[in-house]
Amino acid sequence: MRKDILKSSKIWLSSPHMSGEEMRYINEAFESNWVAPLGPNVDGFENELASYLGAQHCCALSSGTAAIHLALINLGVGIGDEVICQSFTFSATANPIVYQGATPIFVDSEPETWNMDPALLEEAIRGRIKKGKKPKAIIIVHLYGMPAKVDEIVSIAQKYDIPLVEDAAEALGSRYNDRFCGTFGTMGVLSFNGNKIITTSGGGALVSDNQEYIQKARFLATQARDNAPHYQHSNIGYNYRMSNILAGIGRGQLKAIDLRVKQRRANNAFYRELLGGIEGVSFHTESGSRYSNYWLTSILIDSNKTQRTREELRLAFEAENIESRPLWKPMHLQPVFNDVPAYTNGFSEKAFEMGLCLPSGSNLTDIEKVRISGVLKTFFNIK
Ligand SMILES: *Cc1c(COP(=O)(O)O)cnc(C)c1O
Repeated sequence: MRKDILKSSKIWLSSPHMSGEEMRYINEAFESNWVAPLGPNVDGFENELASYLGAQHCCALSSGTAAIHLALINLGVGIGDEVICQSFTFSATANPIVYQGATPIFVDSEPETWNMDPALLEEAIRGRIKKGKKPKAIIIVHLYGMPAKVDEIVSIAQKYDIPLVEDAAEALGSRYNDRFCGTFGTMGVLSFNGNKIITTSGGGALVSDNQEYIQKARFLATQARDNAPHYQHSNIGYNYRMSNILAGIGRGQLKAIDLRVKQRRANNAFYRELLGGIEGVSFHTESGSRYSNYWLTSILIDSNKTQRTREELRLAFEAENIESRPLWKPMHLQPVFNDVPAYTNGFSEKAFEMGLCLPSGSNLTDIEKVRISGVLKTFFNIK
């Protein structure tokens, strides 16, 4: 019985990992009674995050989704507009397009980075322009921390003069050409949800080198209150600001970001060592001058070669109380986006079928790794 309880302690896909510095900032907030959606921790977190990324301006928000929403408002996305969006992503990338009464135009990924296919992006832009509507914005994602084909995409965005929003929710600490993800677009989006590489329990940020965008985001996120002694409003506002308590968690978390990237990358190396030699198992892998935070280590299982499916592996993990997860189901396959235009090449559908995210927390213990490798060794018959 006792043994059973021990065995059953759950291994999560990616769970919060405190640095130990968080309580100091939270205590400061309590002691000074800054228990509010503004205060020194919010200012501090914004400055520290901007300076880490090498971005000019930053606004801390209640979620990454809120950050995407405000980015689209900044770009004037409204009713009847079209916004090009990576299909292979979490739904939060696309939902804010619909909040604005606009239509997402989904674009598939290429096999090298698993992110937006530049050739297909250009085809989509031309196709939409031909139909009489130039897309108002492009949203790319750095899936599981892997930097997208940024050079190609930025140059296409510039060629057609369409602003680029970078959903770097999964990619804090990832770099391309030694520059941090989140700083390539007109605006960049971060998330500090509980399962991300650092967390504020829930939170997000919008970063940009354009001060006006960040000022306007801050204004809209605090109910769009005009400058007057009474409450006056000339715009519809939102309650999207991050609280000073949560920003305190964020400041403590940010202190450990370099270590967290190292730990996630070490997990990735652990899995490569274990599975690298197996015919039919391939990894989501860095190429060129990409440096991934490897937020989640992800593999593709070719069942023709392994005679095993990703679902069988997921269930084998589950039987040992270990969480793993299929890759994101592409947006163009989601029932809610049934009638949305999509430019596809088959990649994300295939990857969704074959792919699994492995337990990737920066807090995985050696004992947990033994349990994980036990499952993998049995499953793939590794001696
Ligand atoms: C987590 C995530 C978001 C949303 O962030 P929240 O802070 O949870 O709102 C957006 N896009 C991607 C790709 C994500 O993984």
